[in-house]
Formats: sequence, structure tokens, C-alpha cells
Amino acid sequence: MTLSAADLAAALAAGEVSSAEATQAHLDRIAAVDDDVHAFLHVNGEEALASAAAVDAARSAGESLHPLAGVPIAVKDVVVTQGQVTTAGSKMLEGWVPPYDATLVTRLREAGLPILGKTNMDEFAMGSSTEHSAYGPTRNPWDLGRIPGGSGGGSAAAVAAFEAPLAIGTDTGGSIRQPAAVTGTVGVKPTYGSVSRYGLIALASSLDQAGPCTRTVLDAALLHDVIGGHDPRDSTSLPDPAPSYTEAARNGADGDLSGVRIGVVSELGGEGYEPGVRASFHAALDKLTAAGADIVQVSCPSFSAALAAYYLILPSEASSNLAKFDGMRYGLRVEPTDGPVTAERVMAATRGEGFGDEVKRRIILGTYALSAGYYDAYYGSAQKVRTLIQRDFAAAFEQADVLVSPTAPTTAFPFGAKLDDPLAMYLNDVATIPANLAGVPGLSLPSGLSDDGLPVGFQILAPAREDARLYSVGAALETLLLNDWGAPLLSKAPKLEASK
Ligand code: GLN
Repeated sequence: MTLSAADLAAALAAGEVSSAEATQAHLDRIAAVDDDVHAFLHVNGEEALASAAAVDAARSAGESLHPLAGVPIAVKDVVVTQGQVTTAGSKMLEGWVPPYDATLVTRLREAGLPILGKTNMDEFAMGSSTEHSAYGPTRNPWDLGRIPGGSGGGSAAAVAAFEAPLAIGTDTGGSIRQPAAVTGTVGVKPTYGSVSRYGLIALASSLDQAGPCTRTVLDAALLHDVIGGHDPRDSTSLPDPAPSYTEAARNGADGDLSGVRIGVVSELGGEGYEPGVRASFHAALDKLTAAGADIVQVSCPSFSAALAAYYLILPSEASSNLAKFDGMRYGLRVEPTDGPVTAERVMAATRGEGFGDEVKRRIILGTYALSAGYYDAYYGSAQKVRTLIQRDFAAAFEQADVLVSPTAPTTAFPFGAKLDDPLAMYLNDVATIPANLAGVPGLSLPSGLSDDGLPVGFQILAPAREDARLYSVGAALETLLLNDWGAPLLSKAPKLEASK
């Protein structure tokens, strides 16, 4: 279970282990530790073992298989899976069984990756701690009293706790990268349009993007190659043929960065970032310099308005996307117990009961921002800021091949620390949100431990459609750090005792 997906795939190809054995081992691990971690909302052991058996049979029959065939995976519960409960962490969809697969799930199935189950998340992917899940929080495997990040805390924790070698997340404002940062794992938000959104339960359609949650950069590249590429079912899907990210990661792994221009974003990483986070970030920069990279300082002044713009654009789009949960078509339906059962009263009762506080807060904000008389002042201004952020990126990428920053301002915080202060919670995403607003890709990998003994995330950003640069530079930094550490960072995580 501690093997990377690439190494497990090699062991499967060499016949050292079967997919059924590997899948069973992960199911056993889930049974042993998930009462503590709570990374999963639903585990589908039978189905995973059936897919594994099919891959094993195909392999014995000499069929040519996908490189990741037989490697099990966990999928965030915001991605629809045919015949498997999908709730998006909400009571609104409790017990809902989708009639179709998301495109990325179809691709996982076609490549032969057994799906272990669905992972916990903040309700409808709103949050940075997984505390907004209607089904209770996920716990950070590094310290069960701390948050695993959010909204995709379940996927990151599953990978960090060795319950799954690979997982799928979604990132609208940082929900793949920030959980990766606080759990010592790797997370990638691809270029907007690189991975199909067909079958993702939409949060903010102009920002949402699915991507890999893994323990190594190469594993993320392998998984991106499976799920990426054009999909006619998503009108925003990029038509260009996708290059091999696996190749980019393999090329980067020699750790040579001669001539690569790395831009440090002045606005990300100063005030408000914990000293231990800054120290780990700067130590990683020194490694990059030693490996031949040219470090340049770049300024993106509009990033200071990114958070404000995001918290107008996201609630606006979310309020529209969540209007479909009305008690009429599917999901929860609550009829008022007193008075007439009219459509409007059923909708009010259903939405009142089905949505949690954070979801209601954002629906109210979004509805207000879009209302006549306020549209120009709020939504219109936010869209202008979005354009300024895109220009800042364009200017910065003239000076540098990739940009870097800490992924998140803090390490994993204790449960409850920010739950009653939405603004404090939102500030976790200050470094990840600009990429979503501009549609550019970003990767987070661990740069080491802070002075509190908890992992720190290092973020790499590349121009749109240049995701390959994330993998080559990311793999290089990973090699440099591993040479130093002598063992993967996760091996330093306190061992999780089996809870049963
Ligand atoms: N934490 C951010 C939010 O609450 C990001 C969410 C996401 O990426 N899905 O909106």
C-alpha cells in the first residue's frame, strides 16, 4: 500500500501482485483506519473487486492494458458515478444514485482502475476544511485533531493515509491544492478545459476543474493522462490533443533545472503566511537555485483583489447552479407539515432542510450580487478584476516559465479554529484562487515540514495549456527534496493505528 501508483503498476505488470490482491489490501486498510480518518463517504468493495478481477483476467489472457490498469482509485463524491451513491457531501442528495458516469469516470473504468469508493468533502465543494460536510469532517492523518483541508479533504486524506494510491479531486478555488498542501501529498488543478466537467456536480462552472490527488508528481501525471483530453460533452473542453504529462514528469525527474526561469510572486507569501511556511518555501527555492534555475521576482498587483472577486463570482455561479435542487426533480423532497403543499412551499422546505449554513450563505450572497441594481457594482466589477488578474499572469509569464508560491498560508489547523469565521476560512485560498480566475494550471507538492511538524505545500503555476511544465519542474523539485530527505515525506507522518 505504500508503493506509488507507478510502482504498483509495475508490480502488477510484472505479475508480482494481482489487482485483486492490491484492491483487497486497500479495502482492508480502509476498514482498519477509516473510522478514524473518515476519508470515505461510500466504499464499494464488491464493485472494485469485480473490476480488479476483470483486469487480472485480461492480463492473464495477454491483452494489452493501460499502464495504470488494476491500480485502485478513490473519487471525490462531487463526481457522478453510475449506480453508486453520489451526494456531494450534502443531505440534499443523500442516497442519490446517478444514472450516468462522469466522463472522467468512464475514462477511469476504460483504463481499468478499480473505484474503491467516494470521498468526503465540504458540502457542494464549499470550504477549506471538510468541516462543512453534512456527514461529519475528515481527519488529517498527520494529526487526527486537525483538518485535512477542503473541500477535497477526503481525497487528500485517503491518499495520505495509504487508503488509496490515487484519488480524484476538484478545484474551484484550491480544493485539490490546499488539501494536498496540508496532508503532505501532491495535487494538480489542470488548465481550465483540460479535464472534462461532464458529470461534475457544478459549483462554479467557469472555475471548476477536476484533477489528480497523489503521493508523487509522476503519479499525478499518469492520472492526468488518463482523465484529460477533449470531450465533446463539455462545451468548454479544449480541443487540442493533450501532450504526455507522464513524459514531462519522467524528463523532469533528473532534477536538472538549468535555464528554467522561476518567478516568485511577490504578492503571495509575505504577510499573513506562517513563518514556518515561509521558511520551507525559501528552503525549496534554494534547492531550485542550486539545480540551475534562474529565480526572478515577479509582481502581480491585482492578486490582492482575487479573493474578493472570487467570493462574488463563485456565489453568483453557485446560486444559479444550485437552483436545480428544488425537491421536484431528484434528491431530497420535504413537504411542509402545516398549511398547503404548494410548489413554492415544498421548495422552501426542501432547501431549508437540505442545505447547510455555508451553502445558504453563498446562495444568499450570489443572489444578492446578481440582483438588478447591484449586478454592475458587484458581479460586473468582479469580472473586470478577473481580466486584470489574467493580464498580471500574462505579464509574469513573459518573465518566467513557471511561477511559484506557498500553496496555503498555514499548515493544517485544529478543528473549529475557523468554523465560525467564514472570512478566516476563505483566506486559506488566497494563493490558490488566482489560478482558477485565470484558468491556468497549478500543482502543489510537499516542500517539507513546518516548525510545528506539519507538512507545507509548494505551489507551481504555469501558463494555460502548459501543464507539462508543472510536471517537469515539479518532478525536478521532488527529486531534489527526496535526495535530501532520503525517504518520502509521508513516511515521517505519525503512524495511524488501526481503529479496529
Ligand atoms: N475553499 C474554496 C471555497 O470554499 C475552494 C473550493 C473549491 O475549490 N471547491 O470556495
